[in-house]
Amino acid sequence: MNTQPKATGHAGGKTTSSNGIIYHGGPVMLGTTNVYYIWYGNWSGNTATSILPTLAGGMGGSPYYNINTSYFDGTGAKISNAVHYSGSKNDNYSQGKALSDSQIQSVVSSAISGGLPKDTNAVYFVLTSSDVTATSGFCTNYCGWHTHGTISGSDIKYAFIGNPDRCPSSCADQTVSPNGNAGADGMASIISHELEEEHTDPDLNAWYDTRGAENADKCAWTFGTTTSSGGALSNVTLGSRRYLIQQNWVNASGGYCSMAY
Ligand SMILES: [Zn+2]
Repeated sequence: MNTQPKATGHAGGKTTSSNGIIYHGGPVMLGTTNVYYIWYGNWSGNTATSILPTLAGGMGGSPYYNINTSYFDGTGAKISNAVHYSGSKNDNYSQGKALSDSQIQSVVSSAISGGLPKDTNAVYFVLTSSDVTATSGFCTNYCGWHTHGTISGSDIKYAFIGNPDRCPSSCADQTVSPNGNAGADGMASIISHELEEEHTDPDLNAWYDTRGAENADKCAWTFGTTTSSGGALSNVTLGSRRYLIQQNWVNASGGYCSMAY
């Protein structure tokens, strides 16, 4: 489900399956999953445009993302530890500064019709600058979310990721951050959350627990062992950078939150 603000985040909990999360029969994303970013609003001069592609480019093959290989579909096919950052597109406020859920889908649709490949094995991330909100509850009900929709006749997976600079107390991990950009570093954890949920539950009918919590929901706002540098906490290296991203739920050995598998 969505990345909920810290105050209302999930705390994990009791379930009836042996690993604390249940398969409900729907598809998972197999093979290499592509990531596209849609930079919505004004990102001029913002280091997020370097920090977040490095995150997506470093995810595949990492011990962190390998957690998702503990999930599989009804045929037993396992999710691959394969994520490819495949490109981006800018959107100069085509839908204004207060986006409804349907307008966010329109942003994705426009990006595809305007040049990004139409890719059913991809996740499209709508990344909004801090002067943009999402009217269904950014900063109050969620920090980000993922879903899917029919775009140009295809089932397209996409996510909304708001900029925590708009509400750091709700959606940022910390105000001093490893890459010197608290908004972007906060988005890194939210992107990770939504990517691993999209991977294991793209149509919202595959992996979630008895309370409806998907894998990343079960570990939201938990970070495991951290190191501190210059007052900024981090817990993982992806590509050339340090990040503080949330743990994910391992679907093995009874189930647990971890940064590696
Ligand atoms: Zn979630």
